[in-house]
Amino acid sequence: MALPLVAIVGRPNVGKSTLLNRIVGRRAAIVEERPGVTRDRKEVEADWQGQPFVLVDTGGWLPGGDTLDEQVSRQSERAMAAATAVLFVVDASVGVTEEDARVAALLRRGGAPVLLVANKVDDSGREHAMWELVSLGLGDPYPVSALHGRGTGDLLDALVAHLPAAPDDVVVEEVEDDRIFSVAIVGRPNVGKSTLFNRLIGDERAVVHDRPGTTRDSIDTVVESDDGPIRFIDTAGMRRKSKIDEGTEY
Ligand code: GDP
Ligand code: MG
Repeated sequence: MALPLVAIVGRPNVGKSTLLNRIVGRRAAIVEERPGVTRDRKEVEADWQGQPFVLVDTGGWLPGGDTLDEQVSRQSERAMAAATAVLFVVDASVGVTEEDARVAALLRRGGAPVLLVANKVDDSGREHAMWELVSLGLGDPYPVSALHGRGTGDLLDALVAHLPAAPDDVVVEEVEDDRIFSVAIVGRPNVGKSTLFNRLIGDERAVVHDRPGTTRDSIDTVVESDDGPIRFIDTAGMRRKSKIDEGTEY
């Protein structure tokens, strides 16, 4: 069972990446670019109040589009297609721009719940600025300061209320969902799963991300192939209750 995907969308410079880093905290270290990455898409596992999810920073999902319209819709549609929930970030210190309004229009038509994030509300004196965002038609905004952490707890409380609860004992054997084709490598401990995993992904240039999965006892890597992205899942073995330390398997 795949973790719920939470997409962070919004125009450049509103604070999407800062918000991602704020939410993942110590784990931000695993959000890193690797040589050969073909697109600037960052996925990282996070959790709040025991609810795990995958955050997707959509910052780089704008290649190819010629017009602003095309770029905005590519980013937003892609995010919506994959996401269980969307964090739509707007810079409250700037107010609503035309680009924000276009993203909002697309998000309103999508099926995923959208939480409207009024970012850069660094202190209570700036809170009044967030009310302009109500005009986007996505409900009341959550005022936050991604930089300082203000308000992010309330935002995350609201977010996890939209996510399906994860079973606490999950063994991944085969996963295929409508977002990405996934291949799980299963077998007894020490038969060479991680070696096979590393061989499968090692020759590929375009490893998008590595995600140590402490909750699922598995490690995912998404590889770009000619047929689209494939997620390889290196399971820790058939031990239901075991926990592996991050990084010990490869
Ligand atoms: P992105 O392009 O949407 O990913 O935006 P970034 O996360 O790269 O942030 C753009 C700029 O806004 C950076 O200089 C951040 O330091 C700044 N920034 C992000 N969040 C906040 C915030 O809550 N308050 C303030 N004052 N600045 C912020
Ligand atoms: Mg960014």
